[in-house]
Amino acid sequence: MFPLFGLLAAVGMAAFVAMPLLAREGASASTLPVDVTPLADLKRRRLVVYENLKDLEFEYQAGKLAAPDYESLRQNYLGEAATLMAASQEAEQLKEIDAVLEHEIAARRASRRDRLPKDYVCPKCGFENPLPVKFCGECGAKTTHRSSLT
Ligand SMILES: [Zn+2]
Repeated sequence: MFPLFGLLAAVGMAAFVAMPLLAREGASASTLPVDVTPLADLKRRRLVVYENLKDLEFEYQAGKLAAPDYESLRQNYLGEAATLMAASQEAEQLKEIDAVLEHEIAARRASRRDRLPKDYVCPKCGFENPLPVKFCGECGAKTTHRSSLT
């Protein structure tokens, strides 16, 4: 009896300990913005550096830091901020390139659709059936394909 009781107690304990952790994990995952782009991440990191700089300034003003320490830490933070800033600019450029590429890809897709035989494309929902079909594979609507009738 005792080993079983011990096991149950252990499992219960583990669940008790893990539950709040799991709950918190779930909550933070659901509050995460859907669009965490590299650019947004860089901005967030830059804000952290600025916060650190402010704290540093505050501590220095409060006399908690020696001037040389303050100066070297400040240079570190400023260097980091500059790096992040440059990375942001790079990411911004990449974003523009991405937009151009996306446009290109969309145009290519559109032209591919134009080249597709009309009877592949459902007149109702626009689904591109991979084969000539009498009825749309997506919505079941009658397509304009006629070879199966002849
Ligand atoms: Zn359809």
